[in-house]
Amino acid sequence: MARLMDEAERAGTHTFPRKKPIVRPQRNPLEWRANLTQLSNPDGSAVDGTDVDGLTHGEIQGRRQVRDAFAFIRDHTPGFEDSYVVDLSPQIGIRETRRIIGPYQLTEDDILDCVDFPDTIGVNGWPVEAHVAGDVEFRFPRADLASRGFNQLPYRMMLPQVVQNLFVAGRCASMTQRGQSSARVTGPCFAMGQAAGTAADLALSAGVALRDVDVATLQKRLVENGAYLGTDLPPDTAAAPAGTGGPGSAAAPAGPSRSGSAAARRPSRPSAVAGPTFTPARSDR
Ligand SMILES: Cc1cc2nc3c(=O)[nH]c(=O)nc-3n(C[C@H](O)[C@H](O)[C@H](O)COP(=O)(O)OP(=O)(O)OC[C@H]3O[C@@H](n4cnc5c(N)ncnc54)[C@H](O)[C@@H]3O)c2cc1C
Repeated sequence: MARLMDEAERAGTHTFPRKKPIVRPQRNPLEWRANLTQLSNPDGSAVDGTDVDGLTHGEIQGRRQVRDAFAFIRDHTPGFEDSYVVDLSPQIGIRETRRIIGPYQLTEDDILDCVDFPDTIGVNGWPVEAHVAGDVEFRFPRADLASRGFNQLPYRMMLPQVVQNLFVAGRCASMTQRGQSSARVTGPCFAMGQAAGTAADLALSAGVALRDVDVATLQKRLVENGAYLGTDLPPDTAAAPAGTGGPGSAAAPAGPSRSGSAAARRPSRPSAVAGPTFTPARSDR
């Protein structure tokens, strides 16, 4: 698909809002999912998920792009001659809008260095996926011996610093912009949601604030319930160099060995960010 789009652009017959299309087969072998639009404001800037006029403009622009992209797929891609649109999202989706600043912000380096945290509540195996004007840039964990293709997610990234007893799990959790461009995907959002629900139960039972939940107890409960905290590699993980699987396979942890302590292989981290302290210091935004 990318080659066909490239050829059409060079021939001057088409222009596409985004390079690097993702077109994937679905569980029903007759269905494919196409991800090849990119929306922007009239001045080229990114659509602001808090601005209703921008959202309205993006909604209209997105549906026009779907129409044009589908016509290209149907008319120029072998095998799709008889295809038709089954479904498209009922509403514009924005990958990144507001985030909290918690006691820890997950960063791009945490993704690329496959970093561990003492308060891990789950893992993220997606690369950095930066949507820039007209393109998508993927950056994978560094392919050295310390890399295994996923990072841990700290409990602290779900805790606002000012509002107490509130979890912010999912794409609005505490992450830098580039960290969020990786850990916003559904897998880590599931992990955060499960951890938030479990921790809320523990806090209620113990009569403590969320920031004072006993992390070891939380981790034990999560593991008992089948969560993977990234403290070792699953026994069925195939050995493969990190960063070679492409976005379609990046959710599966990959590493240089089938077992062994993840902590033993990770790069060392500054203690200032790795410690389990929860000190409210700044306003959330
Ligand atoms: C265009 C696009 C493509 C993406 N592609 C992928 C992909 O291929 N793979 C992948 O893993 N991830 C993908 N993502 C990212 C991923 O889908 C999201 O980051 C993730 O779903 C966010 O999960 P969440 O739980 O934080 O938020 P959401 O999934 O948005 O859930 C929030 C929920 O809260 C509800 N809600 C909002 N306000 C209220 C209220 N006041 N009261 C009650 N309910 C409320 C909303 O209706 C919504 O159901 C994509 C995102 C976008 C926008």
